[in-house]
Amino acid sequence: MVGLVVVSHSDVLAQGVVRLAREMGGEGLAIEAAGGIEEEGVLGTDAERVKAAIERAMSSDGVLVLMDLGSALMSAEFATEMLEGAAGPVKLSAAPLVEGAVAAAAAAAGGASLDEVAAEARGALAMKTAQIGDDGGADPGADVDAAPGGEADATADLEVRNAIGLHARPAARFVATARGFDADVRVAKNGDGAPISARSLTNLVALGARLGDTLRVTATGPQAAAAIDALRALADEGFGDGVATEPAASEDASPASAAGAMPAAGAAPGPAQPPAAGAVLTGVAASAGVAIGPAHRLGLGLGLAAPADRDARGAEEEWRTLDGALTAARDDIEHDRDVVSGRAGAADAAIFDAHLALLDDDALLEPTRAAIAAGATAERAWYDAAQQVAAVYRGLDEPLLRERATDVLDVGRRVVSAITGDGEGRPSASGIVVADELTPGDAAGLDPEHVLAIATARGSNTAHAAILARALGLPAVVGLGAEVLAVADGTTLLLDGEAGTVMVDPPADMVNDAIQRRERAERRRAVARERAGEPAITRDGERIEVFANLGTGSDAARAVQLGAEGVGLLRTEFLFLGRSELPGEEEQAETLREIAQALDGRPLIVRTLDAGADKPLPALPMPAEENPFLGVRGIRLALARPELLATQFRAILRVAADHPVKTMLPMVATLGEITAACALLDRARADTGIDAPMELGIMVEVPAAAVGAARLAAHVDFFSLGTNDLTQYTMAAERGDARLAPLLAGPQPAVLRLVAATVAGAAAHGRWVGVCGELAGDPAAAVLLAGLGVTELSMAAALVPEVKAALREVSLADARAAAEAALDTDDADAARALALALL
Ligand code: PEP
Ligand code: MG
Repeated sequence: MVGLVVVSHSDVLAQGVVRLAREMGGEGLAIEAAGGIEEEGVLGTDAERVKAAIERAMSSDGVLVLMDLGSALMSAEFATEMLEGAAGPVKLSAAPLVEGAVAAAAAAAGGASLDEVAAEARGALAMKTAQIGDDGGADPGADVDAAPGGEADATADLEVRNAIGLHARPAARFVATARGFDADVRVAKNGDGAPISARSLTNLVALGARLGDTLRVTATGPQAAAAIDALRALADEGFGDGVATEPAASEDASPASAAGAMPAAGAAPGPAQPPAAGAVLTGVAASAGVAIGPAHRLGLGLGLAAPADRDARGAEEEWRTLDGALTAARDDIEHDRDVVSGRAGAADAAIFDAHLALLDDDALLEPTRAAIAAGATAERAWYDAAQQVAAVYRGLDEPLLRERATDVLDVGRRVVSAITGDGEGRPSASGIVVADELTPGDAAGLDPEHVLAIATARGSNTAHAAILARALGLPAVVGLGAEVLAVADGTTLLLDGEAGTVMVDPPADMVNDAIQRRERAERRRAVARERAGEPAITRDGERIEVFANLGTGSDAARAVQLGAEGVGLLRTEFLFLGRSELPGEEEQAETLREIAQALDGRPLIVRTLDAGADKPLPALPMPAEENPFLGVRGIRLALARPELLATQFRAILRVAADHPVKTMLPMVATLGEITAACALLDRARADTGIDAPMELGIMVEVPAAAVGAARLAAHVDFFSLGTNDLTQYTMAAERGDARLAPLLAGPQPAVLRLVAATVAGAAAHGRWVGVCGELAGDPAAAVLLAGLGVTELSMAAALVPEVKAALREVSLADARAAAEAALDTDDADAARALALALL
């Protein structure tokens, strides 16, 4: 018989549910309670308790685990991970705790299989929902987890292809698209769990769908097929975020966190003493720049305060009140969206679309309706629903999604204050804004004319404060802890957005120093831009080539304007993305020719396709991988599909016949990969009859290639170090994970050692070495790389002027000495400091 486990924050509740379920399933039912934590009477969940309960309920038929909210899910997940040698399978159920347990008990007692018991539990709300619907309350079916039994009119499997998955904004676009059709659209992730309604932003976000996951989308109703087509088109564009070609986009970009501190995204600050004059608070560097000014504590209007009690005026009247408040909140949010869009651009304003979607979200509306029907006031019902939904977000695994609890509370606050009038009108901020955490609404209220910088107690690089600060060009440090909230209003602060520090009441000399630093940085940028067209020649006369990286077909001319002397990395993935069929030789050759022409005789290094499970292509369906970064990507995929690489070689050769084009292979680890690719290149030469000279190089981004450079160099013309992947693999830190920023921040001494090994290996065969990872675009790191013997640096075009300027400031002899010393430092900060001392 299938066993059941009931997980709840409350021991009493878990025991009560077990009793209820036994009434249904009888004494023979294997059902166990796992409620509360060790400390008696304290609410919480404990993975050890859950694990023990699963073990007690286990048989070869398996166990279904039912949970209440928030961390119960996490504890259950932990518990299943900790299980060793379980006799049967374990399934976690998304069903409502009480109804689900009772339905599951009946099914289990009747001898149903684990899947059948799970399906019974999921469908358990249907009866209740239908009944409330008959009473004029809820919309039947709107919040039922599954649409059991019903045949869909149209179905599609949509791949999640944007870098950070189905977070709030893409999910809002999904909901808005689905709502545009007369169809009931439901979604399940990777074929697991019950399909949820696409009308609920919360439920959609709570799926936790990430890059590479597949969404099974089903639709029923007159416009089912049209809805599926529109959602497919949306998914093809990465749900409006763009399809991932790189690790996380700006929202996830991870400036180095100061002093190696991990961002404490959700840590609630406790009470703190006011910091003394001269104290330096350390947080996460979120937006570069230096600011000096008075602290302005932004506290009013933030958060969601409980509304005062009053007598309800009847369900109909309360519902009308809520409806009016929802309309007012909608106007308010649309106004803020326009303000932010005007300042920072539509992309950063898109979070407000997610807020608008929350106003229509069944996950909020359903419990609100139910509470009003049961006699609650409109504001109390909405307040409670917002708190519950925020708790759901806080319980999610993904830090990025946990942060979305703030969005729910922001929307909650707008609606409640539209009813009560409390907390309306935001204080006008100036100076250095100090806040616990900024919601998008608060950030929209900031006037960059008066605000100098942002300092928050909580938050990470992905928090709204950080995103908007970068977009508005305001220096920002987030995650400073409770101490920053204890700073008295008006206290002078010195905020360094690059170091991630805030100094309280700094001495006059520090203030002067900071002002001068700021002015110097501004002057340096202006001068660098003026001299962008000149070559980068070191003080002792050595020339370093400075190239641009391109990821589209259209930016070559702009790169040249910014001083790029060629393209050191053309990421050809753009030719393949968002397409159901692979591009042919003719089309590829045409696009490459346009880029080569825009470069007007400057070199173009074309990287062959670097796709794989982390950069999936619809035209190349591949099985999901446990560790996509360690999977079939780059050259591995190209050799698995040789006709694909051969076509690309033929297209490149056709352009190389008239332009200075080189080719390089991504993710090479072994000599065998190089010889296999060379054989294909020879075949492409024979097929096209083109014998034009064309250098063939490899990217060095796998440590094995760096360590084995001397052996590989005999077989290639050049190396280009892909430090993004090389750092990821050397430090064993996934490149898109903002929490690992300190491990990924460059230049890591271990990575510099691999650069040195690559240069030495290349020199043995007279080959040149370039760098095309992000490290090349950091002026200080660029000096160290030149000092290690790298002769070509390639980076985002906008960074070219400042890197050239930095190289002109140093002698290669000094750069060599600094690089040599950097190999023996303990961390990236120390290595970088050696180069900064020269600039
Ligand atoms: C790198 O890994 O450093 C690199 C340049 O390649 P990509 O970022 O495209 O993986
Ligand atoms: Mg790479």
